[in-house]
Parts: sequence; C-alpha cells; structure tokens
Amino acid sequence: MDNKGPVNAPEFLRPPRVPAWREASFLQSLGPAFGTDLPPRAVHDAHWVARSARLAGELGLADWLAGPDALDVLAGNRVPEGIRPFASVYSGHQFGVWAGQLGDGRALLLGEVDTPAGAMEVQLKGSGQTPYSRMGDGRAVLRSSIREFLGSEAMHALGIPTTRALAVVGSPLPVRRETMESAAVVTRVAPSFLRFGHFEHFAHTAQDVAAARRLLDAVIERYFPALRGEAEPATALLEEVARRTARVIAQWQLVGFCHGVMNTDNMSLLGLTIDYGPFGFLDAFDPNHVCNHSDDQARYSYARQPGVAFWNLHALAQALLPLVDGPPEEASERLLAALEPYKAEFAAAMVRGLRAKLGLVAERDDDAALADDLLQLMAEDRADFTITWRRLGRFDDEAAAVRNCFLQRDRFDGWAARYRDRLAFESSTPQQRAQHMDRANPKFVLRNHLAQGAIEHAMDGDFAEVQRLLAVLERPFDEQPENAAYADFPPDWATEISVSCSS
Ligand code: AMP
Ligand code: MG
Repeated sequence: MDNKGPVNAPEFLRPPRVPAWREASFLQSLGPAFGTDLPPRAVHDAHWVARSARLAGELGLADWLAGPDALDVLAGNRVPEGIRPFASVYSGHQFGVWAGQLGDGRALLLGEVDTPAGAMEVQLKGSGQTPYSRMGDGRAVLRSSIREFLGSEAMHALGIPTTRALAVVGSPLPVRRETMESAAVVTRVAPSFLRFGHFEHFAHTAQDVAAARRLLDAVIERYFPALRGEAEPATALLEEVARRTARVIAQWQLVGFCHGVMNTDNMSLLGLTIDYGPFGFLDAFDPNHVCNHSDDQARYSYARQPGVAFWNLHALAQALLPLVDGPPEEASERLLAALEPYKAEFAAAMVRGLRAKLGLVAERDDDAALADDLLQLMAEDRADFTITWRRLGRFDDEAAAVRNCFLQRDRFDGWAARYRDRLAFESSTPQQRAQHMDRANPKFVLRNHLAQGAIEHAMDGDFAEVQRLLAVLERPFDEQPENAAYADFPPDWATEISVSCSS
C-alpha cells in the first residue's frame, strides 16, 4: 500500500493515502468515445453506514478501509492524487424497447486496484450527476444503497457471480423520490462493469465501428484471454457470454433470485449479477412472481428470466453484427449459431443444480422430472422456496417438517415415495446427503422484509442491523442456530413491501 506522506505531518498536510490504484481504468484507456472524466460531487456530513470487512480483506484494502482517509474518498468528497474518476457511456434496451443512449448516470469509476484476486474496478454509485444522467439527479437513496450492498454480498456468499459492494456511506443530503429521502453512496467492486449496452452503444447510437472493434479486441485481450487468436472474435465472444449468462441465470433460478430490471444495460458482459435495484428473493414460490412493482407487464417475472436473458443476448448479437465480416445474412447466421449453446448450457446448469438441491449424485434420466414435479407442487401450494428446499435436506429424519410446507399433503406423499425410491440408487448415507444438500439449499437469503427491517433502523440512524444482517448472509449455508429468526417464514406484511425502479 502506498503511503508516501511525511511521517507525523499534521492531518491537513498529509497527502491522501491511496492503495495501489492504477490511474486509468480499462474503458478510460480506450479513448474519449468511451466516456468522460469528471470528479464526484461532494456530500455533507458523510458517515459510514456499512462496510464489508470480508471484501476489504479479499482486496487487500482492510487497513485502508479502516483508516482515516477511506470515508472521504468513498463519499466522493475527495479525489486522491493520481485518480481520474470516469463515467462510461453505454446504451440499451429497456423493457424490450430501444432506449438509446444511457451511461453511468450516477456512477463513477475511481480506477482499478491491483488485488490478490486480480485487478478490480472500484466504482462509486450515487456520486452525483454526469453527462449521462439525463433527467436524473445522480444520487442514490439510503434504502436502495443498503439493498444493493446486502444483495451483492449475499449473492457472492451463495457462490453466484456478482459485482461486490465494499461500503455504503450515508449523508443527510435530501434526495427526492416518491418522498424525500436521504442520500448514500455505494462503493461497488468488480473485475469490470461492462454491459451488453456498451456494444449496443457503438453499434446503434454512436455508429462507430472502429470504436466497437477497439472495444472487442480489448475486451478479449483483457477479460477473455482464452479467446485470443480466435478467427472470428465477435462470434467467439458472443458464445462465451451466452454460456456465462446461461450459468448465472440458472444460479438465480436455483436460489429463487429475481433481478427485476433485466434491461440490456443491466446485463454484465462477464456474466455477473449487476445493478441491484428492485431485486428480490422468492418467499412463497410463485413462478410468475414479479419483484419490481414498476414492471406491470411482468416482463421480468421469475419464470421469464431465462428467456429474457436469451432475448438480451440477441440484442448483443445484433450489436456485434458490424464486427463480423462477410455478407450480413451469413454473419447473422453465424451470430445466431453462437447463441444456440445458451439453451443446452442453461438446461445442463439447471439439472446439475437441481440434482444438488435434491441431494442426488448419480445421474438418472427422470431426475429433471422429479425436480419439476416438486417445483410444480411448491408453486400450487405457494410453499416457501427457501424453507422447503432446506427442509428437504432433513427428509430422512424429519419428513414431517418438509411435508408441512405443503397444503396438498397426499400429493406430497406421492412425490415423497418417488423421491425415496430414487434415493435408493444413491450410495450416500442420509447424513452425507444432508451435508451436501445444505451446501446447495441456503438457509439464509436476503428476504425483502429482512432488508426492510435493516433499512428502517438505518433511517433512524442505527446501522447495527445492516452489519448484523451482512454477517448472517455471509454464511448462508451454515445452520447458525443463534440466527434462526432470519431463516423464518416472512411475516404477513412482507407481501405489502413495494419495491420499484425508484432508487
Ligand atoms: P437502472 O435501470 O437503474 O440501471 O438505470 C438506468 C439508467 O438510468 C442508467 O444509465 C443509470 O445510470 C441511470 N440512472 C438511474 N437513476 C439515476 C439517477 N438518480 N440519476 C442519474 N441517472 C440515473
Ligand atoms: Mg443500470
């Protein structure tokens, strides 16, 4: 860590202490077509709302984050020497409609930091207006910032690829949404915040093929080294993005995660979960559940996520078309062919994941049907998604517990008999199986009402619950008997919580 300041200098003479941050971030180094350098806008009375000591440790930033300078830097109140904050431009399809130019309207990259886990981009979200803010104020509210912080760290702990969150800084700065709220700045961390919309921008908005090609080459060089030297880089990249997307979406489905706003500008090119807004984890299982109250067409319902991701990949394919040589019809065909593996990759990831959730190691043809029939019954009975799967891990010892999750008990008994027969083909003991299933079926997920509880305390100035909830969610598969209340059925009022695009 760099600290070249004079020893014992008074605070105001000490240069800002910055870890080993590289000045230019990936997109910034590609040229002015990719975004704008600009400083964050300050907030007054900045204070810590939450910090992830775990992520800080992984990044080698633990000392810095606990030190005296981090608050000012992560509030956007001070730009340390050698850092050039940057907002990137992208475009995208929102709710299935071409939306034109978007961009980092309230986010700024601070740069890249070399970490033991590789180079990571550090980004402030909610740090003020940028040239891409359109009608927005460039701010984020405390409520949605806490949700993003907890959501991303919870997903990471579940083993799901995601952008991370290092900290939330709060400020009394008023921010107008449906009501007046207060501002916050989230520090997000990821190897890259590149979106499908970055390619869409150069294809459709800027119509700058040279820039798109620069982006393609640089993306492969930096983030997809296995694709270096491919004869047709655009199709090779598309296929790899399709496969990664298939796998991450399968992981969402398997834990009951709904993203809420799967616009193409919110789709990560690296296959990460990105842009936590009106997301939610399923409580009672309803495949048609819509977590975003602004989504009145139910475009982004739980069950539609895999299809929507495929649609979004088609938008990416279209954006890559100018980068494929040859007659456009043939180029399109090759791009479409590169998307095909999505279906098999998704199906395989689902079956693999469902087997793990059922505690099955052997592979038999009717495993998918067995899982589907359970899901069907869970849907009909609105069984709690997380609790039902977790209890299934105790099937041998406490069959009644999982049976109690259902209303149609006779139908569950019919399914249970099939499951018992199927388990006879397994060589594991019930104890081993329970252990395996407990690694596939989390006990703790960020249910809306848990986030809401932490947010309400935070709005009263008490941030302890955010940190407590983070600690629980960092170990989602552990029994944590002392935290059993966080794994309970949601209270009745949970269905009343309204989460919309407003953040
Ligand atoms: P989202 O769907 O939340 O990812 O936002 C879509 C686009 O709107 C992105 O380009 C955001 O940067 C931008 N945006 C959202 N909220 C604001 C805001 N309050 N101020 C400025 N830009 C915003
Ligand atoms: Mg977004």
